[in-house]
Amino acid sequence: MAISNGYPEINYFWFMTKEAIVIGSGIAGIASAIRLTVKGYSVSVFEANTYPGGKLTTLQLGNYRFDAGPSLFTLPHLVDELFELSGKNPRDYFNYQELEMLCHYFYEDGTVLHTSADREKLLTEIETKLEIDSAPLKEYLDHSEYVFEKTRHSFLERSLHKFSTYISADILKTVASMRKLNLFESMHEVNQKRLNHPKLVQLFDRFATYNGSNPYKAPGVLNSIPHLEFGIGSYFPTEGMHHILTACMKLAKELGVKFHFNQRVESIQTVNGKVKGIETKTGFHPAALIISNCDVKQSYKQLIPQQKAPKKTMDQEPSSSALIFYWGINRSFPELDVHNILFSSDYQKEFESIFEQKTVNEDPTVYIHISSKVVPGDAPQGKENWFLMVNVPSDQGQDWEKLRADVRKTIIEKINRILKTDIEPLIEEEDYLDPVRISERTNSFAGALYGASSNDRMAAFFRHPNFSKIKGLYFAGGSVHPGGGIPLCLLSAKITTDLINYQ
Ligand code: FAD
Repeated sequence: MAISNGYPEINYFWFMTKEAIVIGSGIAGIASAIRLTVKGYSVSVFEANTYPGGKLTTLQLGNYRFDAGPSLFTLPHLVDELFELSGKNPRDYFNYQELEMLCHYFYEDGTVLHTSADREKLLTEIETKLEIDSAPLKEYLDHSEYVFEKTRHSFLERSLHKFSTYISADILKTVASMRKLNLFESMHEVNQKRLNHPKLVQLFDRFATYNGSNPYKAPGVLNSIPHLEFGIGSYFPTEGMHHILTACMKLAKELGVKFHFNQRVESIQTVNGKVKGIETKTGFHPAALIISNCDVKQSYKQLIPQQKAPKKTMDQEPSSSALIFYWGINRSFPELDVHNILFSSDYQKEFESIFEQKTVNEDPTVYIHISSKVVPGDAPQGKENWFLMVNVPSDQGQDWEKLRADVRKTIIEKINRILKTDIEPLIEEEDYLDPVRISERTNSFAGALYGASSNDRMAAFFRHPNFSKIKGLYFAGGSVHPGGGIPLCLLSAKITTDLINYQ
């Protein structure tokens, strides 16, 4: 293996003999295809849409560009890793910057908190604005790091469903520190105990929404999530989130991955408990190895109805979904940053609305993401591309047209109240995404953003494994272990392909 620019150069083609199929070109599907190619497989990706990316896609409205789905980018080294293991310099494909400002939080009583990635600035902001001692927050962030470090190797980077994981040194260390991981308390209970102000409790409860869960039910071990932002950092690709996709697609194509768009997989064919290929509208495509990046519940229902679906997986509560408005705004708002939150005045009621009443609270929390703050080409000069998102329940047949009209009115009133503006006349371009569109466009069960919710202390163990009872059939993506969100989807591709031995 030659070394060039510090990266090994691999000749991929001489040993490509085995055929593998990936169903779906979501980020985990593409990452799986890259990893399989590096292992020596010849990989074909079959994608139902005419474009790649699934939830990670882009939208152009007039002169405004929007990232249609994910907007928060953490653990960028997981993207870099795909290039490095392919013998490429990631910087030749993909660049990103670290955001100094994590988020602007607006509360209904007029309080505004700017959370900086700089620890000293953050603690000073909290002391000044909330007039409290910042020591409990400092301890809280140290605790978040502790939980993250204790769980990352055992919960996030390995299959939770293999015996070898449970006899590893890491898991034994994790078990030894179980009590400190708050597995049996809710995130909210831990936050209330550890933080000395209701506004901080609300701020850190919000991290449950990063995997579509309810902080009043999700286990306290998920208080590791804030460490991603507050400890490791929040990043943004220099050309927007969509660049993660275009860079990975470029790499995959260079490695020889063959993409077949507009080719929905209709079934996975099996013989004697082994996969033998897939059926699409163009016929039968043979393969002894298949990775399904299609939502796992849909995989069982649509692709392998002959296989008994695991009840625990099928019964798991879906994560929350989202109602998104894309607005081209004919003005700039200096009080806003890349990530902004306008908090609900009753957070508990908001989560009860989502997960119990299966509707949208009358005062929902509104997330406003403005990529044009750091990617100037995303909006005309002096204007901004607003991505507004409200967490909503998964699709259970609600009247989304009515809910969308109600939410639009409510959030306009909230924005006007909090930002002291009149926003509606400034909207010069508009589109939306709702649970039905998410489901139609990505085949996600009930339009859930992150597969199953983590509203159960044992949720991590109930997530479907990355392998199946059918020999040669594996799963990668947000609906299986270790979970949704770009970093976990990338880890899912790693765990899945690590389970496969090239023969
Ligand atoms: P998906 O993106 O779900 O794609 C699956 C692909 O498989 C699709 O292209 C689909 O068409 C295809 N497919 C399905 N069935 C078939 C079939 N039968 N045949 C062929 N193809 C098929 N994550 C973050 O990290 N940060 C965020 O800020 C964030 N915000 C989000 C906001 C929104 C609005 C949404 C929707 C998601 C957000 N997420 C965020 C979550 C993140 O986008 C997802 O977890 C991740 O992109 C899912 O990737 P995936 O690989 O599981 O596949």
